[in-house]
Amino acid sequence: MTIRDRAPVEPTYWAGDLETLSADELDARAGRSLVRQLGYVAGHSPFYQRKLAAAGVELRAIRGIEDLRYLPFTEKEELRVSQEEHPPLGWHAAVPMGQTVRIHASSGTTGKPSFVGLTARDSAGWSEMTARCLYACGVRPETIIAYAFNIGFFCGGLANTDAIEAIGSTLVPIGTGASDRLMAAIRTIGVNQITCTPSYILYFAGVVRDKYGIDPAQLGITHLILGGEPGGGVPGVREAIQQEWGATVFDSMGNADLAPVFLGECPERTGMHFMGQGFLYAELIDPETATSLSMADGVEGELVVTHLDRECVPLVRFRTRDRVVVWTSPCACGRTSFRLRCVGRTDDMLIVLGVNVFPSAVKDVVMTHRPRTTGELLIQIDQPGPRVDPPLHVQIEHGPDVRPEELPALADRLNADLRAKLIVPTQVELVPPGTLPRSEMKSQPVRVVAPAGQRRQGPER
Ligand SMILES: [Zn+2]
Repeated sequence: MTIRDRAPVEPTYWAGDLETLSADELDARAGRSLVRQLGYVAGHSPFYQRKLAAAGVELRAIRGIEDLRYLPFTEKEELRVSQEEHPPLGWHAAVPMGQTVRIHASSGTTGKPSFVGLTARDSAGWSEMTARCLYACGVRPETIIAYAFNIGFFCGGLANTDAIEAIGSTLVPIGTGASDRLMAAIRTIGVNQITCTPSYILYFAGVVRDKYGIDPAQLGITHLILGGEPGGGVPGVREAIQQEWGATVFDSMGNADLAPVFLGECPERTGMHFMGQGFLYAELIDPETATSLSMADGVEGELVVTHLDRECVPLVRFRTRDRVVVWTSPCACGRTSFRLRCVGRTDDMLIVLGVNVFPSAVKDVVMTHRPRTTGELLIQIDQPGPRVDPPLHVQIEHGPDVRPEELPALADRLNADLRAKLIVPTQVELVPPGTLPRSEMKSQPVRVVAPAGQRRQGPER
């Protein structure tokens, strides 16, 4: 092995040849990868052997990306059943355990863990995609970055630590729930970037302020690379975090079944760039009808992703349940991939009087009312969603400086603003600061509570 000379000029991209390819060239390459990958899947994955046969798919007829639409979708529920029938990795595992170098467990929505396996090649691919994203977000050799996710969190821990070391930055693994350790690392090691969830960085700002009596903006943090939940890309949340920290927020995103990080913001910050070139192919569909949507500026839909290079648990047209808005117009950074912003998870969506409401949109509005509110909120519903009888009941923490006689007017203002921006009637209940549960990881903004009669006063239809 030779020691690579430091390039005289710092490159702009981690994988410049791929990140700046024309869309046509990328599609052509993706098409060739797809044909090869489908051949592999049909040869090795019992799950897809059955699924493709049931769909009557003739693999020889699939010649490129334009033929992807003939292939069936894969739902998360199918993977869950596949694992239950054939533990631990499921019928969709395409290699024997001897070639599986790592297994991640994540707590599924049903509470039962779901498993994701990797071969050595898969693991290298995850780290490569993560490095592209982190590099776009401004992680460089001179960066000292605190990793404040759980190392196993969202399957991303090891891919992130690999990627940070590959870039040559200084990694300080902190984990979660370790605010004192993080504070010590900032003061003694000189940490200048932090990667964590939006919920945690807001929580940690409170710790810095209240416990240490320090203004977070004085700590010298320049970059906050956020992920694990929407928030880093929600304007009200992003602005509040940036003001608190005097740092620039970069949003990033992935999916446990696909790759932990394959979307990341460049310095232009006009949506997260797709960074899965060579490994993943992304499509957009209408979540109701499952028909394909064309990728164009401002189009909203569900992200569907196909593995182009995955050995252990390859997926074809996997429905991510992520609602996103995409942009394809050229980005000033020179990267050619499409960009997206996550609107929310389909699973978290509520429907009030026929209008879709994502908790992140409620948060966006409430955050703009800081410091009259703390920004913390809890949406209470009578029964599991998505359908909710109006008005939408939202508990919101008022700020510490709001006097009791000011509360009714503040509630009115919040109701009016929420109604104007979400187009649904709301019933705001103000609660004292510090009373709603804080999350050091992902926030849980919706809670199912007792029947309506026991708590509602004065509906506001
Ligand atoms: Zn860009």
